[in-house]
Amino acid sequence: MDKYTKNKISSFCCLFCSYINSKVIILEKEVRVRFAPSPTGVLHIGGARTALYNWLFAKHYGGKFILRIEDTDRSRSTEEAIKEINSSLKWLGLDWDEGPEIEGSYGPYRQTERLPFYGGAVEKLLEAKMAYRCYCSPEELEERRKAALKDGRSPGYDGRCRKLTEKEQKNYEKEGRKYAIRFACPKEGETIVSDIIRGGVVFQNTVLEDFILVRANGLPTYNFAAVVDDAAMKITHVIRGIDHLSNTPKQILLYEALGLPIPAFAHLPMILGSDGKPLSKRHGATSVEEYKKNGYLPEAILNYLALLGWSYDEKTTLFSIEDLIEKFTLEKVSKNSAIFDNVKLQWMNGCYIRELSVDKLTDLLIPIWVDAGFFAKPSDFGIEKLKMIAALVQERIKCLTDVLELTDFFFKEEIEIDPKAADKVLRKSEVLRVLETASDKLKEIEKFDTENVETALRSIPEELDIKAKLIFQPIRVAVTGKMVSPPLFETIEVLGKEKTLKRIELAQEATEEREGNG
Ligand code: GLU
Repeated sequence: MDKYTKNKISSFCCLFCSYINSKVIILEKEVRVRFAPSPTGVLHIGGARTALYNWLFAKHYGGKFILRIEDTDRSRSTEEAIKEINSSLKWLGLDWDEGPEIEGSYGPYRQTERLPFYGGAVEKLLEAKMAYRCYCSPEELEERRKAALKDGRSPGYDGRCRKLTEKEQKNYEKEGRKYAIRFACPKEGETIVSDIIRGGVVFQNTVLEDFILVRANGLPTYNFAAVVDDAAMKITHVIRGIDHLSNTPKQILLYEALGLPIPAFAHLPMILGSDGKPLSKRHGATSVEEYKKNGYLPEAILNYLALLGWSYDEKTTLFSIEDLIEKFTLEKVSKNSAIFDNVKLQWMNGCYIRELSVDKLTDLLIPIWVDAGFFAKPSDFGIEKLKMIAALVQERIKCLTDVLELTDFFFKEEIEIDPKAADKVLRKSEVLRVLETASDKLKEIEKFDTENVETALRSIPEELDIKAKLIFQPIRVAVTGKMVSPPLFETIEVLGKEKTLKRIELAQEATEEREGNG
C-alpha cells in the first residue's frame, strides 16, 4: 500500500471520528478551543466575533479557552498589536484560561517561542518523504507564476524541486541557495472537511499545491504551525472564519501526515457591511478599540457580535452574557453571511446604557468629560451634580460619547446660543417678557431645586396668558443655548441659581440687541 492510499484510509477514519467528534468530544473529553490571532494589526470586529464564539463554546461546555499568538510572520507582527489584541479581549471580558500572562500546561503560547516544536515535526515529514526542500528563489517562482498565468495554466507551485536527487540538492546548496520546505501534497483523491456548520466540504487534492511549511528564513508558515500547535495544545474544536476554509484541507493532510488526531472544525460565516461587501474601513469603525473610544459598552458589543451569525430563536435580541453562555451552540450558527448593522448596534448600546446604575454610568462618563476638557477632576464640578447629569441623559444617549454635545453647557462658564435657536426662538415679541418674568420668579426661590423651579416656571403661562411651549422654549435656549436639552427643570437645578440667572440676563440682552437690529 503506498503512503497516499494509507493516508486516504486514515483520512476516512479521522474524518469519521471528527464528524461525530463534536458530540463525542463534548461528552467525553474536555473541550479545548483557541483564538489564534496574527498580531499584524488591531482586533477587528470579525476577530472579536471569532474569539467570542470560541469563548462561549468553551464556557457552555465547561471547557478551556486558549489564546495563542501566531506571530511567525515577523515582518508583519508587532508588539503593539499583541498588546492591543490582549487589551481589547480583556476589555470585552473574553478572558483566557491559557495563553499570554496565564501559563498552562501546553505553553508557550506565542509561536515564535515554540520553534523547536515545528523543527521536530518538519524532520518527521522530511524523513517520511512527505516534505521536501525547495530551492527555487522568489524571483524564479514569480517568473514561472506569470508564465503559467499567461499560458492559462494553474499559477501554483509546479513541484519542480519535489523530484530533486540528493546530488542536485547538494549542488544547489553549494551555489549558496537557501531553501524552503514544502509539503508533498497528494496529487490524487480528495480531502473532505467535515464542518459542524456546513457539513462535508469536498476538496480535490489536485487543486492543492505543494505549500510551504517552513520559509527560507527558518520560520514555519501559518498552516504548518497551526496544525502542530493545535495538536500539541490538544485543541478539540477549531472555530474560525470562513476565510480559512480553503486552508483546512491542507491542514487535514498535515494532521494525517504527522499521525495526529484531527480536531472538529466549524467555519463561521462572513461579516458583510450594509452594502453586502465584506466589512471594511469604508463601513466605519471596524476595530474593537474604536468602538470603545466611541462610547460603546462591552456588554453591548458582545451581545451584538453574538448575533452576527448565531441566533437563538430568531426573535430574542437582548442576551446577557450568562444567557449567551447557556444558549450558545454551534448548531445554531448560520451558514449565511451576516450583515453588520451599525444602527442596530447603537440601539443595543442604548439599551445597555439604560440598564446601568447611575453611579456606574457616572463613572463611565467622567473620563469622557475629562478628556473633553470639561473639568480636570470630578470634585472640581461636584460628584453629586455629575450623577444628576448622568441620570438626566441616561435615557437619551445611544453611545457614551453622545453625552458631550448634550451636556457641554453645564460645564461652560459662558455659552454660545446656537444661532438657529436664537433665530427661531428668541425673536418672538413676547420673549423679553417671558425671560424677565422667569428671572423674577427664579430669583425668589430659596431652595433652588427641581420642584421649586418647576412650580415657579409653571405659573408663568397662565400669568402671561401665553402657551406653555412659548414659555419653556426661550428659557431652554437661554440657559442651555440649544433647542434640545435634558429635561428643563432638572437642568436648571443642576446649573444653579446664579448661572441660570446670568444666562437669562445675557439672553435678554441678546434679544434686545436683535430687536434693536430689526
Ligand atoms: N492566525 C490566523 C488568523 O489570524 C488564525 C486562523 C485560525 O484560527 O486557524 O487568521
